[in-house]
Amino acid sequence: MTTRLYSHPIFLEHLTPSGHPERPDRLRAVARILEEEPFLALDRVEAPMGDEATLLYAHPESFVEMIRDAVPEDGLRAIDGDTTVSPKSWQAALTAVGAANAAVDDVFAGKADNVFVAARPPGHHAEKTTAMGFCLFNTAAIAARHAQKKHGVERVAIVDWDVHHGNGTQDIFWDDPSVLFCSTHQMPLFPGTGAKTEVGAGNIVNAPLSPRTGSDLFRDAFRSRVLPALDNFKPDLVIISAGFDAHHRDPLAEINLTEEDFDWATGQIMDRAATHANHRVVSLLEGGYDLQGLAFSVAAHVKRLMKG
Ligand SMILES: [Zn+2]
Repeated sequence: MTTRLYSHPIFLEHLTPSGHPERPDRLRAVARILEEEPFLALDRVEAPMGDEATLLYAHPESFVEMIRDAVPEDGLRAIDGDTTVSPKSWQAALTAVGAANAAVDDVFAGKADNVFVAARPPGHHAEKTTAMGFCLFNTAAIAARHAQKKHGVERVAIVDWDVHHGNGTQDIFWDDPSVLFCSTHQMPLFPGTGAKTEVGAGNIVNAPLSPRTGSDLFRDAFRSRVLPALDNFKPDLVIISAGFDAHHRDPLAEINLTEEDFDWATGQIMDRAATHANHRVVSLLEGGYDLQGLAFSVAAHVKRLMKG
């Protein structure tokens, strides 16, 4: 498999308050482990700046302008209790979108079989008109719409295994059966959504996990809900909202996965992508707040992407 990696130094310049879990060191830990020997074959590309017009694929213009106006000339400005912007946040968030859209272009152009985008800020909590949960723009949602608009594909699946429910992605595609959204997440936990009964237009598949559960129930949720939904939907592209905060070391939640579980889940998604989507997988970093748990989990995930 050819696996491409997008990164960019601007992602380190989106700043959050001291002690905030979503911090630049997360990406330093990811970059450090991906420099190791097993990753020599990665096709490393600097992320391009995104096209502002693509933000409108998931958000109204008034919201985009609100975020642009919120960015301070210096210091930090709070959007809400969890979500902050700093002077370079606009450029970082737009570059995260640019990388995700470029990743979509790459898998359709055959430049890569799959792509991992190591960006921040994350995106899956950003609703149509609300930035929240450390997220400004919904990168995964924009990339899914980009695939439909630019590459003419009908069906895009987004699998979100971040430990928090991807409320933003669910909100954006709630009444859009052309996008399948499957999420495993701890419940109860922030942001409070993600019950099995939330089904949208039949295109939303939530698989909540109880606190202090682990590998067995996570894999059961995949086998019983996520994978059958993918087989039924037959996506042309699979986007992974790849958060690694369900790792047992993570301080923000209480699900006890190991890096082997992320390896396994990656393999399961790749199997379905091979069957339905000519191997096309685009994986976008979301959460993951213990630096060692994050780095080891990303390593397992990317190794599996490279191996097939
Ligand atoms: Zn999360």
